[in-house]
Amino acid sequence: MPQLPLHHVFHPAHADHYAATLGEGLDHLLRQLKGVGGPATGLSPTAAERRVAEVDLDRPLADAGQVLEEISRLWLDDAVWFHEPSYAAHLNCPVVVPALLAELFVASVNSSLDTFDQSVGATFIERRLIAWTAARIGFGAEADGVFTSGGSQSNLQGLLLARGRHAGVPAERLRILASAESHFSVQKSARLLGLGDESVVSVSTDARHRMDPAALERSLAACADLGLRPMAVVATAGTTDFGAIDPLERIADLAVAYDAWLHVDAAYGGGLLVSPTRRDRLRGIERADSVTIDFHKTFFQPVSSSAIVVRDRATLGPATWHADYLNPREATNPNQVDKSLQTTRRFDALKLWMTLRTMGPDLVGRYVDAVVDLAAEVHHRHRDDPELAFAAAPELSTLVLRYVPAGPPLEERESAALNNAIREALYASGRAMVAATKVDGVHHLKLTLLNPMATVEDVTGVLDLVRETGGRLAPAHRRSLAEAAR
Ligand SMILES: *Cc1c(COP(=O)(O)O)cnc(C)c1O
Repeated sequence: MPQLPLHHVFHPAHADHYAATLGEGLDHLLRQLKGVGGPATGLSPTAAERRVAEVDLDRPLADAGQVLEEISRLWLDDAVWFHEPSYAAHLNCPVVVPALLAELFVASVNSSLDTFDQSVGATFIERRLIAWTAARIGFGAEADGVFTSGGSQSNLQGLLLARGRHAGVPAERLRILASAESHFSVQKSARLLGLGDESVVSVSTDARHRMDPAALERSLAACADLGLRPMAVVATAGTTDFGAIDPLERIADLAVAYDAWLHVDAAYGGGLLVSPTRRDRLRGIERADSVTIDFHKTFFQPVSSSAIVVRDRATLGPATWHADYLNPREATNPNQVDKSLQTTRRFDALKLWMTLRTMGPDLVGRYVDAVVDLAAEVHHRHRDDPELAFAAAPELSTLVLRYVPAGPPLEERESAALNNAIREALYASGRAMVAATKVDGVHHLKLTLLNPMATVEDVTGVLDLVRETGGRLAPAHRRSLAEAAR
């Protein structure tokens, strides 16, 4: 019988193989990193797909070196790099090294956070971090929570708990009130909870894109008049597009008055919890029943790292199910699975732990301040530029704007096509990346700044590219529009 080759298994007998493989991987990654010349290379989806499709998955390569060469060809050579200062598209952060060191341990030891007997100290590291986050929020000793895969899952769980508070009410009578600019995971959660799309009531926002409390009050009153139950109010602390922070204290008063669960979605704004200068902008968050924090956004953690934190642990019940094999009712050991929508679950908390133990919270908060300051300064310098029409002043670290060419004004359809073409041209050039969104139906470009190393000059450079590219594309756009009109 041929021997079963076992050196692939993480085991002390294979320590040399493990060290050599990881060493080779680290060398490869560093070579790759040093060769990065921009946030992207502009590879098209067709080309990216073709390369991957050509791989014969049933025929493994000879060694790790070849595997590494292959992933470079399929992915890394053309990857999007979030540490590049001209990457300014989605809510992705560059990651901090202490968290990367943690990843090595998270994956190698592979503790699973569902029960104590699969994690031991890890269970308590996660619990300490939840307690630490809860204390930063301003919750008391009854607070609890759990790490999740992301803000979407945290929001789903928050709304599941809200549903639990109104367990006796038929689904068709329940309403969730959220601002028109809240995250789409609120709508998706409503679907997953069997509440239907019409259960989410969209509350209008003010000129700064914050929920209008007067409009919320009208919606709550209208619900009551119609015999509907406001199950939850979702306040957003940092909207995805504008970073707007809803007026938390006034919303909390209304949630109490109407006996609605208050969920604060601080997926983006959560980093302000550690900001040495801007913590006060989250005032009122301590009145929430549940809070979403995405550490993989404004705490500079690798994906995934998020948490749902609740004011009162007694409300976590709807996430609990007793399984004979795992967490029977009579179990005496601690477990985290009673609080989680997941069962087997990564020890993502270690990344935040090692980050805090290495950097301390103030330094993380100064990184947050740096990107908020950066957005403010760039806006200040460019707000009067006639070719860059900003939709609003930044609240956190996003800039939302349109390129407006000199000459006769474009109709919206034309402007949308031009701005979209600018975004695509930037990606294709590999020199900068920006995102897109719509503001009241009007197409805009969006720059999300989460890189504490990016400078005003870097971001100005991206805006210069927007202007140059727009200037180059606008005449052809006008011509083709004129031809189409004839
Ligand atoms: C990003 C974001 C989410 C979703 O979080 P994921 O981690 O991407 O699932 C939810 N709410 C807001 C306000 C966000 O910005």
